[in-house]
Amino acid sequence: MELGIAGKTALVCAASKGLGKGCAMALAAEGAKLVIMARQAGTLAATAEAIRVATGAEVTTVVGDITTEAGRDAVLIACPAPDILVNNAGGPPPGDFRNWGQKEWFEAVNGNMYSPIDMIRRTLDGMIERRFGRIINITSAAVKQPFEPLGLSNGARSGLTGFVAGISRDPARFNVTINNLLPGLFDTERGHGAATLIGESRGLSARDIIAGLPAGRLGMIEEFGATCAFLCSQQAAYITGQNILIDGGNYRGTF
Ligand code: NAD
Repeated sequence: MELGIAGKTALVCAASKGLGKGCAMALAAEGAKLVIMARQAGTLAATAEAIRVATGAEVTTVVGDITTEAGRDAVLIACPAPDILVNNAGGPPPGDFRNWGQKEWFEAVNGNMYSPIDMIRRTLDGMIERRFGRIINITSAAVKQPFEPLGLSNGARSGLTGFVAGISRDPARFNVTINNLLPGLFDTERGHGAATLIGESRGLSARDIIAGLPAGRLGMIEEFGATCAFLCSQQAAYITGQNILIDGGNYRGTF
């Protein structure tokens, strides 16, 4: 399927590894011009080169922390008018909520709620003026099915989800959509860490947890990226305000 996004500019945050990299690679394969951001220059440069070699895409890198004002300024100077924005950042640490005070909560809310909201605030109206925009927020399956030790993630990401539900309808008439992608367990550093953590909570190994998933395996970043690319396509203009779970069937509800 031709997705109709060749030549569009895609800004992918936290994209040197994992799910962000999967999205960047898939968008580049569809002909998008990329601006990718992450904190570590070496890893980011290697990822950019891998994407160029694999797809021939134009890839610009910005080294920075997306959870800081300075990081967001830097990436928006490099890419002031993205057609596609993929919001992503590292997830908060696990723990017991009894040990989390204001500092821990403010950091989680800053990283996984406020930062993507600020990126949306600063790019949405330009997309509306240009009559094309696709915003994808990488959140978590925990929004739909919380895992207690990841309470900071459950809380902060649910805040983002509620906000997005409120603002994602009006832009649709201007061909601008906003959707959330909810990963279950994926084959990334964070995914392996989460499988270990879930295993510990049940007296099982990470391997047991992964084997027990309905799909019997972790998700692949290529699968995640392909879903992201479709949601960014011309064909997906009628999909907005949705929370799309990609978890190999692990959520057991009927809907
Ligand atoms: P990952 O650790 O494999 O990769 C994270 C990427 O983000 C890296 O490139 C890292 O350099 C970059 N990054 C992290 N913090 C950043 C920051 N502040 N500024 C700029 N770049 C930053 O993680 P992942 O598995 O790709 O997960 C991506 C997001 O999805 C995370 O928020 C994670 O919690 C969430 N998530 C992942 C899974 C999973 O199974 N992988 C499941 C649920 C939710």
